[in-house]
This record gives sequence, structure tokens and C-alpha cells, in this order.
Amino acid sequence: MSASSQSPSGQPAAATAAQPYLPMTRPTIDDATIAGVAEVLRSGWITSGPNVKALEAKLSEHCGGRPVRAFNSGTCTMEIALRIAGVGPGHEVITTPLSWVATSNVILEVGARPVFVDIDPVTRNIDLERIEAAITPATRAIIPVDLAGLPVDRDRLYAIVRKHGLRVVEDAAQSFGANWRGRPIGAAGDFVSFSFHPNKNVTTIEGGALVLNNDQEAKLAEQYRLQGVVRSGFDGMEVDVVGGKFNLTDVAARVGLGQLPHLVEFNTRRTELARAYFAALDAAGAAELGLGLPPRDFSQTNWHMFQVTLPDGSGALRRAEVMSRMHEAGIGTGVHYPAIHLFAVYRRLGWKEGDLPLAERVCRTILTLPLFPAMTPADVTRVVQTLMRVLRPGRPA
Ligand SMILES: *Cc1c(COP(=O)(O)O)cnc(C)c1O
Repeated sequence: MSASSQSPSGQPAAATAAQPYLPMTRPTIDDATIAGVAEVLRSGWITSGPNVKALEAKLSEHCGGRPVRAFNSGTCTMEIALRIAGVGPGHEVITTPLSWVATSNVILEVGARPVFVDIDPVTRNIDLERIEAAITPATRAIIPVDLAGLPVDRDRLYAIVRKHGLRVVEDAAQSFGANWRGRPIGAAGDFVSFSFHPNKNVTTIEGGALVLNNDQEAKLAEQYRLQGVVRSGFDGMEVDVVGGKFNLTDVAARVGLGQLPHLVEFNTRRTELARAYFAALDAAGAAELGLGLPPRDFSQTNWHMFQVTLPDGSGALRRAEVMSRMHEAGIGTGVHYPAIHLFAVYRRLGWKEGDLPLAERVCRTILTLPLFPAMTPADVTRVVQTLMRVLRPGRPA
């Protein structure tokens, strides 16, 4: 998720006296972390330093010992991975149209061309069946996205990749703590990119991390992270690649170090709440009403988001109207996401309505309901009752 979730409906403006506003999401930060941040601020070293190193070590442990480097976003991580892979002008990168626009913006940033492949409407992730038809001699990489934390099928993905000699940048911004067949996302595969934006399952305020394949890639990632600089001895400095300014601060890293011990607890809580959503939606007859529910995965996803699709078509209430009425009832919702290929930048590249009909339909109707660890099952009941009342105004919820 991203700045797009800061839509008017996400703002706590309409809280009633009876019930506090329920935002779509909010981070949980404990007092020990806040005290730890104060300590860093008093320490005299507040930008990249020992806390970043400690965070990288913990993340590497989580990823089966693979090299991990921390950055100030989960966007630059993907851009840097593409640069390390040598992707640039004249190359194509295959990705999904249903993601935060960062996923495809990074392809343009390195001068390559995004090639969108339609989604599987059940998982809402890129349809692996359609990837091979999109591969051309210019294809260099694939950026799959684990939407809402539901992992893309890694077995099928890497079978295609091996056959065609492509690189992968896994956009796992939303799937930190999820797993594929019991292995944590990040512990296997090619490049894996995480985001620690406040809406993600764990946060560093802003921040991200990139899982790499070897020390040589990790060294290059460090260069791209800070102006391309390599230091040696007391006074040696060389610059042989053009890097940027993507380093994480120690203050932010300390927030992350306070979050990681809660990862399992947070994701367990999210899973319980997802189960409560299914129970309440089933009991309320959501499916008969035309609501589309996410896959009932309770073993691999981290339940980063709980997203429904609203009834489509002429008689249906418009999504903006549903969101506005939810907001009036004190409940924040979000849209993750509008179809990327229909943004002006991408239309200028030739993409148009009708190119990716399955994604377009989901993007038009998808709605993210509140889900975060500090929520209670009673909050879930309230969300579902309110949604049913909005969609079915004539009948008691
Ligand atoms: C959050 C997110 C990103 C980008 O992360 P930032 O840390 O905000 O740069 C990229 N892709 C997806 C799918 C995301 O949800």
C-alpha cells in the first residue's frame, strides 16, 4: 500500500461520539521501540550506522542467511535490482497491471519498457499461464507482485524463468512474513524486494530491503544506495557507477528492529481477523450479494490486506459512493489499486482500456477493508454489518 491509501476516506474525520473512527490500517509500535528510538536520537549517530547493520543482519537471518541490504524505500530496491541485473534501454520487463504504480515506474526509471500481463482473477496476481506469450527477445526480467501478501506460485514462476533465462525481481513489498511451501518469502528465488512503509505488516516508517544472491551483488547494491561510492583505507574514495541517495537512517532502522520480534504475532493476528471476515461475510450472504472474496489461504499469505470486489454493472452502487458511506459510518476503506496501464503515463506508451480486461474489472471494483493487528473481531463485525447495510439499504444487516 502507499500514499494512495491516504485518500479522504482514509482520514479519521468522521468519528462519532459512539464509536471511534476505524482506519483502514495503522501501525502498532510498542513503548520499547519508542524508547529505543529516543536512545538512538541521543546517541550522536542518527543516520546509517550500527542499527542499519543490525537490521540487515536480522533480515538476513529471516531470509535463510542470504545477503540483505536496507534502503529508504521499497521502490528504490527494485530500481537497484534492475540496474544490478543490467536491465535498461531496449529491454522489456514483464509485470502485473494490478499493483502500486511503483512496480512499473521503476521499469521506466531504468529506461526499459513495462509489458503488462493480465491477472488471474482468483488470486488477483499475475496470470502465470499468460507470461510465456509475452516473452520476446527483448525480455530481460519479470516483476511479480504478491498482492495483499498472497504469494505468486514460485514453482511455476521459476520454471518459466529458468526455461527462458530471465531475471526476477520479486515485488514482495506486501508479503514480508508470508511463505511459499513453508519457506519464508525472501529465503529463496532471485532478487526479493520488501517495503517497510507504515501500511505494511512491519514498518521502518519509510524503508525497504533487497535480498540479493551473493556478496558481489550486495556490494553493488551498497554503491547504488549511496552515490556509487566505494571507500578504502582512511582517505580512499572511488566512484565507478552512478548511484543515488537511498540509505536508511539508524532512527528508522531502530523502529524496524523493534517491529521484527512482533512479526509472527502481527501476522497471526491478521490471519485471525481474516478468518473473522470470512465468517461474518459468509453469514451475511456476501457472495449472493455479488461480493467477490479473496482466496481462503491460511497457510502461506501474511494477510497484508483483506480485499473484496464489489458488484459490477449498471444497477450496482458506485465504489466511490460505497467508500463515502463507509466513511460517514466511521470506517476507512481503500483502493489497491487502479489499473496501472490506464494511467496517463502508460496510456502514452500505447496501453488502453480493454487490453487487460480481467485486471480492469478487478481494479474497477476492488475495495480494501480495515485490517491491522490492533483491530478486534468486534471491529470486523462492525465493518461487515456496515458494508451490508450500505450495499443492501432496504434490509436490516
Ligand atoms: C508499498 C509497495 C511498494 C513500494 O514501497 P515504498 O516503500 O512505498 O517505496 C511497491 N510495490 C508494492 C506492491 C507495494 O505495496
